[in-house]
Amino acid sequence: QCRLSLESVGYRYAGGHAAVADVSLALGPGILGLLGPNGAGKSTLMRMLATMTRPSSGRITWNGTDLAAAPNALRATLGYLPQDFGVYPALSAREFLGFLAAVKGLSGPKARERVDHCLSQVGLGDAADRRLGEYSGGMRQRVGIAQALLNDPTLLIVDEPTVGLDPEERMRFRHLLTDLAGERLVILSTHIVSDVEASATALAVMSAGALRFHGTPEQLIAQA
Ligand code: ADP
Ligand code: ADP
Repeated sequence: QCRLSLESVGYRYAGGHAAVADVSLALGPGILGLLGPNGAGKSTLMRMLATMTRPSSGRITWNGTDLAAAPNALRATLGYLPQDFGVYPALSAREFLGFLAAVKGLSGPKARERVDHCLSQVGLGDAADRRLGEYSGGMRQRVGIAQALLNDPTLLIVDEPTVGLDPEERMRFRHLLTDLAGERLVILSTHIVSDVEASATALAVMSAGALRFHGTPEQLIAQA
């Protein structure tokens, strides 16, 4: 079960203009690349999908259930990497993820197993005991993905993960998300088209809060 539906979703910050306006989308498994310039409304939209804020108007449903009425139906199966994700530099990746797993209610040998599994999924198995302060930016972002995978989510929301990464780490990140997609829905926001043009199954383009395009990468190219 992996159906996310947005019906005329809007969001207005207090005293501000509409950061998101009348966005409707029906999504299933695969990678959705969410494109748009800074200020387009991508982060605001993703925070609503991650149930951190409620839409000012419209409706979001997950497998037919309204998020406003039952956010926990989605949270149990949600992984989220926010744009401003930070790590504790003094901890190793294994310690940090162990801490986050405990916060999520996982403990004991099962939790340790899960942490190690998630770290190896993102290619950090060999670096698991190194201090995060010694990690590169790309490695830190992969720790961010690992924490988002702890509960084996069906919906994975990743906000601008490639900012500041070098081309090699960006490519590595693309391959990682492709591996993770499978039966999941992965929503990845970026303003770098090459992050998603080859790996995304669908693209959505936002500007000034509005959805300007939703379709396959091929359809976007044909339209340009
Ligand atoms: P993004 O790169 O997603 O556009 P921003 O730089 O706009 O992120 O926002 C960074 C943080 O500052 C976010 O937590 C956002 O909610 C907040 N923020 C952005 N714009 C404003 C604003 N006009 N007033 C108050 N907070 C803002
Ligand atoms: P994006 O992620 O595409 O860069 P955002 O969702 O961060 O876009 O921002 C969309 C619009 O909402 C921008 O005009 C931004 O300044 C505004 N905004 C974002 N966060 C806040 C906030 N906390 N308070 C007021 N305005 C905000």
